[in-house]
Parts: sequence; C-alpha cells; structure tokens
Amino acid sequence: MGRDRPFENARKLIKRYRITRGETFRLRDVDPSDTGELTSEDKPRAQAALRSGIDALVRLQDMLYAQDRWALLAIFQAMDAAGKDSAIEHVMSGVNPAGCRVASFKAPSPEELDHDYLWRCERELPERGRIGIFNRSYYEEVLVVRVHPELLAREKLPARLLEGDLWKQRYEDIRHFERFMGRNGTCIVKFFLHVSRGEQRRRFLERLDDPAKQWKFSSADLEERARWKKYMRAYEQMIRATASENAPWYVVPADHKWFTRIVVAAVMVDALESLDLSYPKLTPAQRTELAKIRRALVAGD
Ligand code: ATP
Ligand code: MG
Repeated sequence: MGRDRPFENARKLIKRYRITRGETFRLRDVDPSDTGELTSEDKPRAQAALRSGIDALVRLQDMLYAQDRWALLAIFQAMDAAGKDSAIEHVMSGVNPAGCRVASFKAPSPEELDHDYLWRCERELPERGRIGIFNRSYYEEVLVVRVHPELLAREKLPARLLEGDLWKQRYEDIRHFERFMGRNGTCIVKFFLHVSRGEQRRRFLERLDDPAKQWKFSSADLEERARWKKYMRAYEQMIRATASENAPWYVVPADHKWFTRIVVAAVMVDALESLDLSYPKLTPAQRTELAKIRRALVAGD
C-alpha cells in the first residue's frame, strides 16, 4: 500500500494510548506533550505520515461504503481548544462527504430535554457503510453535567430516579448502549484529546489576539477552565468506567496538534482495517448481466 514508516510507527504507537479495560487507568500517566518517536523537527515526516494515513482512510472508507455492512462511529471529547475541530477537519479531509457526517452536540434544546439523553445522539448515528463523527456526545452527560449539578436539574428527571448512584447508572447504560451498537454492526472508537492546562492557556491567548479566531472565544470557556480539576476527575472516572474492548477510549496527547492528527488518523485506519472490508463480489448472474449491458453499450451510440 506504500505507506511510509512514520505512519506505520504511529500505528504501533496507538496501543500506548488505547484503553480497553479502565479499572487502573490514570490520566496522569499520559503526557499531553508526548509526540512518540517524532519531534517537532520532523515536521515533513509528520506531514507525510498524516497524508498516508488519510490516503489509507479514503481507500478504506470507499470499501466500507461499497460493502454497506459496518458503520464506524468516532466520538471526540475534550476540553476547549484541545483541537477537536481541527483534528476532525484534517483527518477527514479527502474522505468522500457522501459517506461521512459530523454531528456536534451543544447544550440540549427544550425539545431534547423532553427526551432521554441518548435520543438526540441516536438520531445522528451513522448508517451502515458510513462514518459518523460525534463532536462531543452523550458523554457530556457524565462530564459537563457532572461538573455542573444545575444542568442535571434542568433534565426534568423524576425525583425518585435521582436517589441512586446516577453516574454509575449512566456509565452502565452507556456501556450497554455501546455493546448493543457493536452487536449491530457499528464499530466505535472514542477519543479524549488530552491537552494540558498550560497549552490551553496559550491557545486561548492566541484566540484573543487573532481576529480570525476571536469569535471562537467565550467567557464560558474561562469558567470551565476554572473547573479544570473537576473535569479531569470526571474524565478519568468516565474512561475507567466506559472503556471496553469493543468501544475503546484513546487518550491522545493534544499539546501538539500535528501529532494528535496522526494518532487520530492511525486509530481510524486501524479500526477500519479490523473490519473484514472488501468490495462486494458479483454473482455469476450479475456478471452475465453486466456483460450484456456492456455489449449493448458498445453496439449502440
Ligand atoms: P469550540 O471548540 O469551538 O468551543 P465546542 O464544542 O466547545 O467548540 P461550544 O458551542 O463552545 O462548542 O460549546 C458547546 C457546549 O455545550 C460545551 O460547553 C458543552 O459542554 C455543552 N454541552 C454539550 N452537551 C451538553 C449536555 N448534554 N448538557 C449540557 N451541556 C452540554
Ligand atoms: Mg467551546
């Protein structure tokens, strides 16, 4: 397939970031500034690695679409400015838009609050043959909602249902939901783009100073930043409770965007290669039919 070495190395590297059994997972064991075997001086190699990852992704997506059996769901969670949007944009560039859809989940609308929290996400799940990208997801329900109890109050749950261990129940429901999806042909990969507090500060300052990026900044971003520790605890517990063999978490170092993108591409390629993708084979009858059509076209004008 002519893939270059840095990309193959990245593919080996992803094991380092993959969490399939979360019990002993500790966030502090993953260094947000990690760049694997690559250094910032290796930029051209890194770019080549990303390009060959994207090429592989494009080829695999075409087969996924043609085969029309599996779907791939990639979930992105992160603190603000960790690079979710740009990772999605870069990794999916070149992928046939007809076979891929990005859904972004913000604070729920009144209509969405009238339903269970999976409702709005279920409607965005990828069909067979497609790649679905969730920019934030139902995982916000054990992250921002956990850090902000007032958000839970808006969810209109019957009081009696709040008496148990709600977060444990949500983890359990999410695990079961993901297992259900897996059993029905949706392969799931989940990314936590792990940015450091220092790098977030640097990127916020950059946003404030750049007229093309100022619109991205809101004072709410600072309020969430002030709750950094609470978020990290919520992320760690969420990963511990919801990492599984069929829906692993990838805790991706996110202080260097160029590295984040390579790892994300490598994970997506790896996930697609784990499916038995192939172009549909024609039956003898179909082949005869095509030969007939061909003859008619050749003979006609
Ligand atoms: P950017 O990186 O451009 O800021 P973003 O994904 O942060 O993109 P925003 O519009 O800034 O997009 O924020 C979306 C907000 O919606 C986040 O603060 C997120 O926590 C919040 N949100 C998402 N899902 C839920 C939910 N289920 N309940 C409450 N808040 C939610
Ligand atoms: Mg935001």
